[in-house]
Amino acid sequence: MAREKQKDTSFEGKVVLVTGAAGGIGRAAAVAFGRAGACVVVADTSVDGGHATAAMIVENGGKALFVQCNVTRAAEVEALVDKTVAYYGKLDCAFNNAGIEEEHLPLAEADEALFDRIMNVNVKGTWLCMKYEIRQMLKQGSGSIVNTASVAGLVGAPTQPIYAASKHAVVGMTKTAAAEYAREGIRINSVCPGVVNTPMMGRALEREPLREKKLRNVHPMGRFAEPVEIANAAMWLCSEQSSFVTGHQLAVDGGLTAI
Ligand code: NAD
Repeated sequence: MAREKQKDTSFEGKVVLVTGAAGGIGRAAAVAFGRAGACVVVADTSVDGGHATAAMIVENGGKALFVQCNVTRAAEVEALVDKTVAYYGKLDCAFNNAGIEEEHLPLAEADEALFDRIMNVNVKGTWLCMKYEIRQMLKQGSGSIVNTASVAGLVGAPTQPIYAASKHAVVGMTKTAAAEYAREGIRINSVCPGVVNTPMMGRALEREPLREKKLRNVHPMGRFAEPVEIANAAMWLCSEQSSFVTGHQLAVDGGLTAI
């Protein structure tokens, strides 16, 4: 029987784009991809944070390019993919991770502006990124995309109804696009984190410090995730190691959705 060659875990020679890479999960992923040998394109609205992430990658001996990009603007996302290809020649993997949270409010208390803001970044932003990335990957005949959804894309999230709707939409787009492009050599998956120790979580706890213990305890593991734990899952989904995985929503949640 022919022995299957072990698939490569390194990203040497790969070009990886990460959005929302100026902090939190995106920064941890960008740095981890850089350590694994990838040429990393760091994309974010934050110029200072984006440059800082790129500098961390370079300090670790990696290659990085920062591109300022607001994922809600089609022209900026198209330019982001164009710059990636102009600079590094191709786009192998994309981690569409930029997203914003919702202040805790029951559904009937939220207003229209909040709905539009969250949908714009989390849904339209993810769609635009996939749209332009897939156009490039179709030319290459290969690619791997990972979207950051959330456990709030898998189950309900009381007091975060709009955020939950936005992340369920990310899951729906991920599944659909995965099926559409499966025969074109493009795999598309999502990571669904539980609560992660990032600036986003810090802002939520600043607003409601008393929720911290309760929030920890919704995870059977009794703790929050560290950003690198989400980055590791995204890297596995981007890598050749997951070559038969597409349309999958990988919960990285300390058991939250198991109960
Ligand atoms: P964060 O706020 O710490 O970082 C998000 C980054 O995205 C920031 O650098 C921000 O500048 C950038 N960003 C926001 N809007 C943008 C836009 N329009 N265009 C480009 N960049 C933009 O958040 P995080 O906790 O690292 O979250 C990253 C992703 O993970 C988000 O999609 C979030 O919904 C998801 N998530 C987070 C948690 C958590 O507990 N932290 C849990 C589940 C899912």
